[in-house]
Amino acid sequence: VPAGGEFAYISWLRARIPADARVLVGPGDDTAVLRPGTRAQLVTTDMLLEGSCFLLEGPGSATPRQIGRKAMAVNLSDIAAMAGLPTAAVVSLGLPRTRGRALGEELFLGLREAADAFGVAIVGGDTNSWDGPLVVSVTLLGEATERGPVTRRGAKPGDWLLVTGAFGGSILGKHLDFTPRVCEAQQLHQRADLRAMIDVSDGLAADVNHLCEESGCGAVLRAEAVPIAPEARRIADGRSPLEHALGDGEDFELAFAVSPDEARALLAEQPLPGVLLTHIGEFVNAGLWLEQGSERRALEPRGFVHAIE
Ligand SMILES: [Mg+2]
Repeated sequence: VPAGGEFAYISWLRARIPADARVLVGPGDDTAVLRPGTRAQLVTTDMLLEGSCFLLEGPGSATPRQIGRKAMAVNLSDIAAMAGLPTAAVVSLGLPRTRGRALGEELFLGLREAADAFGVAIVGGDTNSWDGPLVVSVTLLGEATERGPVTRRGAKPGDWLLVTGAFGGSILGKHLDFTPRVCEAQQLHQRADLRAMIDVSDGLAADVNHLCEESGCGAVLRAEAVPIAPEARRIADGRSPLEHALGDGEDFELAFAVSPDEARALLAEQPLPGVLLTHIGEFVNAGLWLEQGSERRALEPRGFVHAIE
């Protein structure tokens, strides 16, 4: 990291990290020291790679601050999926040698924005510079509530499938500027017995399929019920708005299983301010299905999948 080197950058960072009662030793020592909570500990990590996950130049590019926010927010979304409370993060950066310091500062401001919004302490990390592109990796810790974490396994045939928000077209902006559903998950978890839950990152069909695989059951989605984001209608690429809603990914909404009685109560109450709950289908014994009118056909879990060679 030019302009004073890595140590100057770390000093700059440390001056911007406030004291936190949960953190006994923060950045600057060999490890962070955290006061242990009493609940089950959640850990998640996500790495964003320039050129593969985002671009810093050209059409469709993102600002370093947006990348910082997203790197934290995707992890927050995973903690939300467990109905957990995020607590502390460590951040690893691989900074390109040219303009690394400026990038690093903007990234950090974005990371802090997302962390501050959910009371997350940034307690450490690692910064390197190299001749490659930008790499940002965030590891986020969280705690389950007293009701325990909500996993992907636990949906049963007969349960209703509910979702928050709307789907599709996130590439037009939402993928960089979304609110991780941390608070919404808390509220749902307090009101209902959430049997299984996931955050929609790969795509609605793909992530419902993940719930089904882990729970050992299937699901039927009703085409008319799927909430389609306005952006999904603005992409003119030959695919229908419904196909975008089912396949696009990076919606960062929640999909979850509840009993029909609890689902009815949640739908009547609509307890989430500004976020609509929608009943889009049911869990069944096996298979992934899309019901359109009176027709039921097999649904491909067509979410985005990284190629591995
Ligand atoms: Mg997830």
